[in-house]
Amino acid sequence: MENRFEKKQLVKKSENFSQWYVEVVLRSELADYAPVKGCQVFRPYGFAIWENIKDILDREIKKAGVKNAYFPLFIPEKFLKKEKEHIEGFSPELAVVAFGGGKELKEKLVVRPTSETIIYEMYSKWIKSWRDLPLKINQWANVVRWEKRPRLFLRTTEFLWQEGHTCHSNYQEALEEAKRALKMYVDFYREYLAIDGVFGKKSPAEKFPGAEDTYTYEMLMPDGKALQGCTSHNLAQNFSKPFNIRFLDKEGKERFVWQTSWGITTRCIGAVVMVHGDDQGLIFPPKIAPIQIIIIPILDGKNDKVLIDKAEEIKEKLTNFRVEIDKRREYSPGWKFNQWELKGVPVRLEIGPREVKEKKVTLARRDNFQKIEIPLSLLSQKIKETLDSIQKHLFEKSSQFLKKATREVFDYASFKKIMEGERGFVRAFWCGNPECEEKIKRETKATIRVLPDKTPEEKGRCIYCQKPAKKRWLFAQAY
Ligand SMILES: [Zn+2]
Repeated sequence: MENRFEKKQLVKKSENFSQWYVEVVLRSELADYAPVKGCQVFRPYGFAIWENIKDILDREIKKAGVKNAYFPLFIPEKFLKKEKEHIEGFSPELAVVAFGGGKELKEKLVVRPTSETIIYEMYSKWIKSWRDLPLKINQWANVVRWEKRPRLFLRTTEFLWQEGHTCHSNYQEALEEAKRALKMYVDFYREYLAIDGVFGKKSPAEKFPGAEDTYTYEMLMPDGKALQGCTSHNLAQNFSKPFNIRFLDKEGKERFVWQTSWGITTRCIGAVVMVHGDDQGLIFPPKIAPIQIIIIPILDGKNDKVLIDKAEEIKEKLTNFRVEIDKRREYSPGWKFNQWELKGVPVRLEIGPREVKEKKVTLARRDNFQKIEIPLSLLSQKIKETLDSIQKHLFEKSSQFLKKATREVFDYASFKKIMEGERGFVRAFWCGNPECEEKIKRETKATIRVLPDKTPEEKGRCIYCQKPAKKRWLFAQAY
């Protein structure tokens, strides 16, 4: 079959980042555009990463005593209206169902943009006493938020995620749960996706509609724009009051529960693509790579059986890894090298007649293109070392970039100049006035991304209005 991309070189990441991103996602077969604008198809290779991500996080979520459940896709419109900020925040992006079974519905149904309202309606029935608390439920689901400027993985009208929803008998416990979830995401990004970032709290204007506080992990993409990696909300009693989620405490007094919700979406795959990829294509961190090792027997038409047998034998020995063999005869070894580099497989093993004779393989690293020869007797150990080293190397590169692209700025002229040029994170004093935040956004397209955790109080002046300010926040243009 003719490959529609075969003849054309991949656009260079350094030359046209946004086009590179689209090409690499399509050509590596992670995803494709769906017939409905704003929607995307997760192809098997892209869905396999999501499955790996799900496995890792699902384990962590269960470890924290949270159980999985599933709630319906449709939510009565009136539920969303119960929390004023919530409906105001979401109404521009809602998909609404007005007809069902051939009839106009008496009450319109919203396709869930998030599930607080439907889950909390149920919680109000299930929770009666302090003995029912804490209640901690998670669901893996799809949600719909109508997207006017869609981008594969990063902004899609329908996306996949998990959403955790917990209820507690007191404020402190809920706050700790919101922070636990945040830490889970931070560790996940750093340890598995190998992307460094900054975690902390959102400004009131940027928080989740209806939350008391929103915590987040913000990362920088190679074009200097920030990407929000997850959110964890301390909802306080903002939902339990309108949804009437009450419990009798140990003294027999009726109280409203304290709540959290937290989520991570398929956009984290977009972050992996952007952060680690290069001019040749994707580079997957080994811990989430759908295929960690691709074995390529260098078929020549003469020794094919011996080479394929050897490849099979090696694969059998690598049971601890995700391994595939490319046995196709219709493609040349060089074509295959390019293809698997494009697909970001961390390690390639080459086996030719010489390797068979000398009882070794040639190993090529995707991250730095280094090639080494390994005696078969040491294969498993060397592969483990190499994958660990790639994982570490990718994180270090991401860390270095984050440091380099974060700047301390004390005057607005410099702030503007940075946002017109290289962008990145700018750390600057802000007085807390939403008007300054709004004007900065209008004039530079930069928003407040996060107040980094443990930011000390200092004496300074607001980057915009020059009035006294106590804390320095991180600003950036964002995806
Ligand atoms: Zn100000």
